[in-house]
Amino acid sequence: MDNSNISQKELDSDDITVIRQHMKRRMPWLGFGGTLEQRYRQQRSDDFQRTVSEGAPWLVLFHVLMNIITWVVRHPSGEDFQMWLTTLIITSAAIAVGLFVARVPVLRRNFNILGALCGGLVIFIEMTAAQLYQSLDLAQDVTYVALLAMIVTSLGIRLLFPAAALALIISSAAALVTGIVIEARIDWLSVTIYVGASIVICLYLAHTLERMERRAFLQSLLLSWEGQQLDVANRKLDQLSRRDPLTNLANRRDFDEILLEEWERARREEQPVSLLFLDIDHFKLYNDHYGHSAGDTCLIKISKVLAEALKRPGDMAARYGGEEFVLLLPNTDEHGARRVAERLIKRVDAQRIVHLHSRTAGHVTISVGVATRIPSRDNGSSQTLLDVADAALYAAKNAGRHRLHVANDSSTIINPVS
Ligand code: GH3
Ligand code: MG
Ligand code: MG
Repeated sequence: MDNSNISQKELDSDDITVIRQHMKRRMPWLGFGGTLEQRYRQQRSDDFQRTVSEGAPWLVLFHVLMNIITWVVRHPSGEDFQMWLTTLIITSAAIAVGLFVARVPVLRRNFNILGALCGGLVIFIEMTAAQLYQSLDLAQDVTYVALLAMIVTSLGIRLLFPAAALALIISSAAALVTGIVIEARIDWLSVTIYVGASIVICLYLAHTLERMERRAFLQSLLLSWEGQQLDVANRKLDQLSRRDPLTNLANRRDFDEILLEEWERARREEQPVSLLFLDIDHFKLYNDHYGHSAGDTCLIKISKVLAEALKRPGDMAARYGGEEFVLLLPNTDEHGARRVAERLIKRVDAQRIVHLHSRTAGHVTISVGVATRIPSRDNGSSQTLLDVADAALYAAKNAGRHRLHVANDSSTIINPVS
């Protein structure tokens, strides 16, 4: 898989188990292995790009200043001039390649190899020059530069530890071997000790730093995973807090919020919004005679009828409380709302839930209050719509139950089923 995809892929519980195992290790060996290592390398590659881009002006400035100072103060001439010019060209080329690698995504994927090659080349050329300069002053200056190049390569440009180690060791060894071959006039013992000590210190620091960074990387992954889990749990909790556990319909809390939203939307769009307020007739008698558990089963059946009656995506059914339900129908006029109410009454009847103690019919029936409004300034609030539908429901109850009543139209009553 492409590295950039790996870093965007969500963590799963297997990844987390691996991360926790790594957190317990002391990590003397730095690799994680598998996709975790790929994620880490992707992050380091991004770090390389950022560090090199941000550090570029300083590196170039430092490089130019150093060479100007060397030119002005040391006046390299003859073979020293050629050597100075060679190091200047090769070092400039290595810096330019490094900056180029950081900018080009395809090359950046191999930042470890290419960065190590550039850093190693600079170390090699500076250390070789230190042995070849006739002028002791120039040799001394370039030795300091070689040490700085070691520090930048191992700690500055975000190479992984093995790449940094290889760059430092191979380039230094190659420079020393070159010195032996060309029989350079240097003190081998002190060079070996100081170069060796510099390498050991740089690599020790690089290793310690990488170990700390890898730990921080694992912790950041764990943190983001815990954040994700918390989000999921919060979403579930939010969903649960909006559902009625018995019927699985939306509860009153959810309904109140959606009603407000739909009311506002209808006001903006100048569209009608209808509300049906439903109540099961003589439900107390049903409970008293068939038991609370049968009452619950009846509520579930009625709620299914309501859920199935929803036709449009914006329609909503909710349990308002006890044996009362509401149906919210956005963009629905009075005529449409009345038809839905008629259909509901018929569908509840069709369930034929036996209720021999009902004073209305031999089965469970419902009464429905219907209210429709186009929201406007003088048309009240969403609460008014609810109150009007509630009042219409009680009108339907008072008129004998098992019927609907449309607010502002008390003559509209469908025929009760005998
Ligand atoms: P009406 O026709 O006037 O609506 O009479 P009703 O008996 O249906 O109305 P009332 O308000 O007197 O009684 C409502 C009953 O609904 C009371 C209670 O036993 C029952 N009820 C409310 N919530 C639940 C519930 O969650 N489960 C069960 N089984 N019954 C419930
Ligand atoms: Mg009732
Ligand atoms: Mg009631």
